[in-house]
Amino acid sequence: MPKSRSTFQPSILMVGAGVLGVNLASELARHGHRVTILDAGEAGTGTTAGSYAWVNSNSKSPASYADLNLYGLRAHERWSAARTRTWFHQTGNLQVVHGAERMADVEREAAQYLDAGYPAQLLTARGVAELEPGLNREDVVGGVLFPLEGWADTAAMTAVLLQEAQDHGAQYLPYHRVIELTESGVSAQTPDGGTSAWEADVTVLTAGNGIRALTRGLGLEFPTRPTALDEPLSRPDAGHHTVGMTVTTSAATGLPGHMVQTDDVSFRPSPTGGVMITDHPTASRWDPSGETMWAAPDDLLRRARRICPALDSTEVVTVHVGHRILPDDGITIADWLDTDRRYYAVATHSGITLAPHLAETVARQIRTGERDASLADFGLGRFGNLHRPAAAAGV
Ligand SMILES: Cc1cc2nc3c(=O)[nH]c(=O)nc-3n(C[C@H](O)[C@H](O)[C@H](O)COP(=O)(O)OP(=O)(O)OC[C@H]3O[C@@H](n4cnc5c(N)ncnc54)[C@H](O)[C@@H]3O)c2cc1C
Repeated sequence: MPKSRSTFQPSILMVGAGVLGVNLASELARHGHRVTILDAGEAGTGTTAGSYAWVNSNSKSPASYADLNLYGLRAHERWSAARTRTWFHQTGNLQVVHGAERMADVEREAAQYLDAGYPAQLLTARGVAELEPGLNREDVVGGVLFPLEGWADTAAMTAVLLQEAQDHGAQYLPYHRVIELTESGVSAQTPDGGTSAWEADVTVLTAGNGIRALTRGLGLEFPTRPTALDEPLSRPDAGHHTVGMTVTTSAATGLPGHMVQTDDVSFRPSPTGGVMITDHPTASRWDPSGETMWAAPDDLLRRARRICPALDSTEVVTVHVGHRILPDDGITIADWLDTDRRYYAVATHSGITLAPHLAETVARQIRTGERDASLADFGLGRFGNLHRPAAAAGV
């Protein structure tokens, strides 16, 4: 007898245990799906590991993408509050402004945020000093506090949600690299060097920059930008726009409790008692093979010390070079890959912010067929025909 839609719980294979994979796996397993998660390495060690992990809906466009990020932020609040071990540190993000001209821009931007219902509190120079007394006040003319924003401890988040998925029966298979999508699931390289097949009703690709290679077997040119890691020769520009860096420092006293942002650097508390620094908002496009890359960690620390003298006693202890997952138009993809609804893919930048909301909505879509209104602009249809001729696809 055919299973009715309301009782049928498709079994799920998940490819990729980054932040998107573990969030979605926990949500699917919690709803009773039989879930198997395969990762080429260990959970949370891909792009997720080196993320700045700022949870925000700041400077996002178009409006539907800003809304999606705000839903993500709200979902972090809910998910984190519902658990005994939190990963979301909702410290607020303090943008410090130098120069009267810049302040006029920031005031205009803050008014726009408030109009859109996104809290932004303008501060005088004195207000900034009261909030963070340890910051260098020289040339500071004011600031703006985004009180809803914060940062996620991605290692804690990954550990908590993967454990939850397993507690609900999910099977986690690290060091299983999926090499092919098959009619009924996947085939993967196993840690002993062999190959095995896994079957399920639905295969969900949360493999980040690994999705492109996997979908080629389906004759599909998945619209994310190539990175220098996986396609060094195919496009001369491969990689530069996707490469970002985060740096953590040794521990120190007197460091800010808020996230801090100036026009040339951003930093926030790190789980090790120092700060994590990144090239937001300049978003430098590093050439991973270029020499300037290796001067960047010290440069980032120098920029952060200018506004935060307490960092003078610290040094760089970790450097992480991460490859952003960038859909060709910069915004999220969450959609079925085929009309038979056997393969679903989720790929996005800002994945830390978005993961819990995407997990809730994508899990519901797989479970009930209902597509959340917040996902309306994030389908694959917007890229036109992505299918390659069978010969080119090698099928
Ligand atoms: C420098 C930097 C700063 C960032 N800052 C922010 C920020 O402040 N806020 C924010 O929200 N986002 C930020 N991001 C983006 C965010 O980190 C990513 O969107 C997010 O981590 C993507 O998670 P993911 O699960 O899709 O991918 P990943 O974390 O890369 O996970 C994909 C997983 O799939 C596995 N995999 C790949 N191919 C295969 C295969 N064939 N078989 C099996 N497994 C496979 C990999 O091993 C990996 O574990 C930043 C990114 C970078 C690089």
